[in-house]
Order: sequence, then C-alpha cells, then structure tokens
Amino acid sequence: MASILALDQGTTSSRCIEFNHLVQSISQAQLPFEQLYPHPGWVEHDPLTIWDTQYKTLQTVLSQALSKNTDIAALGITNQRETTLIWDRATSQPVYNAIVWQDRRTADYCKQLISQGYEALVTEKTGLLLDPYFSATKIGWILNHIDGVRQKAEQGQLAFGTIDTWLIWNLTQGKLHITDVTNASRTLLFNIDSLQWDTDLLELFNIPVSLLPEVKSSSEHYGVTNHPALEPDIPICGIAGDQQAALFGQQCWTPGMTKCTYGTGSFLVMNSGNTRTVSKHRLLSTIAWQIDNTTTYALEGSVFTSGALIQWLRDGLNLFKDASDSEALANSVDDNGGVVIVPALTGLGAPYWDPNACGAIFGLSRGTTSAHLCRAALESICLQVDDILSTMRQDADISINELRIDGGAVSNNLLVQLQADISSLTISRPTVLESTALGAAYLAGLASGIWTQQQLSELWLENRRFYCQQPSEQMNHLKSTWHKAVNRSLNWSDDQI
Ligand code: ADP
Repeated sequence: MASILALDQGTTSSRCIEFNHLVQSISQAQLPFEQLYPHPGWVEHDPLTIWDTQYKTLQTVLSQALSKNTDIAALGITNQRETTLIWDRATSQPVYNAIVWQDRRTADYCKQLISQGYEALVTEKTGLLLDPYFSATKIGWILNHIDGVRQKAEQGQLAFGTIDTWLIWNLTQGKLHITDVTNASRTLLFNIDSLQWDTDLLELFNIPVSLLPEVKSSSEHYGVTNHPALEPDIPICGIAGDQQAALFGQQCWTPGMTKCTYGTGSFLVMNSGNTRTVSKHRLLSTIAWQIDNTTTYALEGSVFTSGALIQWLRDGLNLFKDASDSEALANSVDDNGGVVIVPALTGLGAPYWDPNACGAIFGLSRGTTSAHLCRAALESICLQVDDILSTMRQDADISINELRIDGGAVSNNLLVQLQADISSLTISRPTVLESTALGAAYLAGLASGIWTQQQLSELWLENRRFYCQQPSEQMNHLKSTWHKAVNRSLNWSDDQI
C-alpha cells in the first residue's frame, strides 16, 4: 500500500510524518534547531541547519518505510511562512542567515513607507499590511546590508526563496527553483488577483525579478527528488504555507469553514471562496490554495497571546505545574468572580492592532482566588478569538456556524466549551490534530492520485463535538465587560514601538 510523506518545517523544529493510505500517521521524526537572536528584535535561523534537520528526519522516516517495503507515492511540504533566504545559484550557499517571520528589523522602513502613503497600494495588490512580518523588506535588508549581494542579484547569480523553495532546491540539487501561491502570497511581492509577481511592488521594494522562484499551484507533480543520499527518487506533489496547510488539513473546503489553531498564539483562517474578500478591519486576505487552476482565498487573523498566557500563569505566577492543570483549577469555580484579563502581553493583534495596549487584570476583589484568575485567562483566549470571528463574519458577510480546532491547548475541554458558549458555535475537534502536516499530505496525495477529496472526506474522523450550552444574555454580559476592559488597556504605553 502506498504512503505519503509530509515535511513540516516549523519555526522551532523540522518534522517528517508518514501517512498511510487511510491517512493515519504511522511514523515520524522530529529535530529541533537553534533560534538565533543577534540583536534585540532580530530572529534568524541557519539555513544549512534547517536543511540538515529536515533532511535527517526525511531520511529516518524513509528508511523505516523502505524496510517495510512501503511504496512512497509522493511528498508534500508545509513550512513556516514569510521566513526569507537568499543563496548563490552556483554553490547553493546562503549569502546570509534566514530572516525569520518574527524579525522586526525592518519596522522603521515599513513605517516610513506607510507615512509615504504606500500601504493602500500594497494592501490592494497583496491583501497584506505593510509590516516587517512579510518577506519583501527582509529581502531588501539582505540586498542592502550584505557586501556584494545586490550586485550579484542584479547579475542573476542569486536566488530568493521562502523555506519551501529552499527545501525543494536542496531536495532536487538546484533543479527546481519554485514556490506555490500560498507562500508567494506572503512575500508582499505577489499580486493575489493576477497571480503574478507584481512589477510595481518589485520596483517599490527595489528587488530584482531574477531572484524570484517560479510560482506553482499547491497540488501538482512539480518534479522528483534528486539527491544521492535519498533513494529512491520521490515525486514532490504538494506545497502550502503552514496556516493554509492546516486549513486544508482540517477539510475547511467550502466558503465560511474556519479553523483556529490554539498554540502560543491563536491563528484563525476562514475559507472565503473563489473571490477575494476585502477586509474593513485589517484582517489579511491571502491565498488558501490553488488546485487545478481554481484559486481559493482566505481571511486570516491572529491573536498574539493565547496559550502563552497559560504559560505565564504557570511560570510567572506559579499557579500550577503543568498547563493542563489550568482546566481543573478553572473548573473549581462556577464563574470568573468578576475578573477580566486583557492578555496584551505583546500588544493586541487583530482587530485592535495596538502595539501600545498593555496586559491588564480588572475586577479584583477580596474574594478573588487563583481559580478566578485562571478561569478569566481561559475566557480571555476565547474572547480574543471571538473578536476575530465577529470581524470575519462582518468582512465576508458570511455565517460561521462551525469552528474546527487544533493546537496544543485544545486538549483543554473547558477552554473549548467556553469558546463554543462565547461564540455561540459548534466546535469540532478532529482525531488527528496534526492538521498542518495532514494538509501537506492531502495536497500531495491528491496530485499523485492516491486519494480523491471525496475519499478524504469519508476518512475524516472527529474526536469530539462541543455545542453552545450557555444562554446568550450571560455571554453578552461577559463580552461587554471584556470590551470595556480592552478599551481601558488600549494605547497605555507611551513607548515608540
Ligand atoms: P506552539 O506550536 O505555538 O509552540 P503548541 O501548539 O505546542 O504551541 O501549544 C502549546 C501552548 O498551549 C502553550 O502556550 C501552552 O501554555 C498551551 N497549552 C498546552 N496545554 C494546555 C492546556 N491543557 N490548557 C491550556 N493551555 C494549554
């Protein structure tokens, strides 16, 4: 029976998972790697370490599969998005470290472009905001700061890539210099309507077109691996950035279907159909995937601090030993006792976008206990997600009736039930929580013909469904108190961020 391999190149580790023909994860390998912080606000990865860790996990899983005589039908790739690399086409040597999506070194340059009035143009073409998060200003930084790089780039000697492109370059020993539409749509250089690299944007950011990879769909036979230490050659058939891969892996295949990943932060992505939705609330419009010439778009909003707040209760306040203890502690009281937490530990993301908002706890009294704080913390994770869900509903003029969830925090049943109550939604928690790798495997398996979307739907397994159980008046009261608290915490710090 045939298997599919998924490479999941994340921010802190590289993983490879083998899925069998029933889409069960049957073997996996994972290697963490070092985060480099050369200056405050800078985050880098060593590109050779990224390749080395990814390659080793692939080799481990591949040799296990071959020892069982498994036929590997195809390989799919999903990756941390926006992270930016430039390398020499002749030697495959990077000219600088990978600049990671979290890196803020180009914040001043982005502010300058905003003050010159460029953001509307950039948003219209790319669906994104003028923020250091995305690749274009990171490419510009490498071109402008590393000796000789701009000249070599202008002579066509260098290649740019996001992590998918770098992995495929290495897997094929430089035969393929490609990316897919989902990764291209995070660079600030890709026009998400024409599906082309945009000449106006290349000019604005002063980036030579010769650097750029060819843009492909998310599911097709791109080529085969061509590496002496990886035998046999494997067809490469799927590529998607991590959040889009998770949306696909959660089978959010029709407009309005939405997934939320609850990890350090929360990442909401909604399938917005075959036309792009323009957000009035600074949510991102992005490409969800392109399959067989049909492009699907998505709306995206992120909460910066969600599971991280539980970590803070654990490590900062010592309220419990393990994040999972938060469920029993919060369940030991019937309500938050009047406490509301605004978890703006690193400012607030969508839909507030206030880097100067402060973390705050309101409503303390003599009767407040650690259990009330813990319950309010779980509520605050859900209330932030609810704000984005409401914004998505308004922007897309679509009803969201069901939310599919994944990420480390969704083992907390109370958290999930609170979300169902606060957002008046049905929530579906799948059995396989590896949505990101699953999405890459689906995309590769579809292109290689081992599955159809219909068969994948039939193989979908739900672990548990959560229904709204609380009366809406009670939830409305909670939401209005929350909004009052958020308003008090906005624009608190005077720091220039
Ligand atoms: P990431 O991929 O962002 O590193 P994970 O998906 O591994 O995150 O999830 C880890 C996060 O989830 C941590 O911030 C942790 O505090 C939180 N978390 C883990 N288990 C629970 C739980 N049972 N209840 C609440 N939060 C949890």
